[in-house]
Amino acid sequence: MNVHELNVPEILKSAGLRVTPQRDAILRHIFACRGHMTADEIYRSMQSILPNLSVSTVYNTLKNLSEAGIIREIKFGDGASLFDANTSPHHHFVCKSCGKLIDFFLPSTPNLAHIAEEEKFQIEDMHIEVTGLCNDCLSVQGNS
Ligand SMILES: [Zn+2]
Ligand SMILES: [Zn+2]
Repeated sequence: MNVHELNVPEILKSAGLRVTPQRDAILRHIFACRGHMTADEIYRSMQSILPNLSVSTVYNTLKNLSEAGIIREIKFGDGASLFDANTSPHHHFVCKSCGKLIDFFLPSTPNLAHIAEEEKFQIEDMHIEVTGLCNDCLSVQGNS
């Protein structure tokens, strides 16, 4: 995905959102970084692009964008949500050593509908978080 070929205003409009310079810049930034950033990281890394941007604008914009389905908010068990440029259903591997995040896909996701019915809960989102060591960290370990 080449971010320069993306028609960001068109993406916003087709999702029913009004095009504002802030939304345009934030979405462009998330696509360029391929996502997986917390709201705070997005705010801090946008300082050089939009110096007048406020934290609350970033939070509101991220909320709007994820509610519109343009980006995906991933809630990790511990800590802040990450905002993901990849909205297709996928899961994450997190390296315990360097913190690297790797997207992965499962050929089929378990159908939890019957469990939800039995346990009487309502599923809003499903996300599998797998932890371990990434290839880079494994090779560092192997060499030492
Ligand atoms: Zn690692
Ligand atoms: Zn992801």
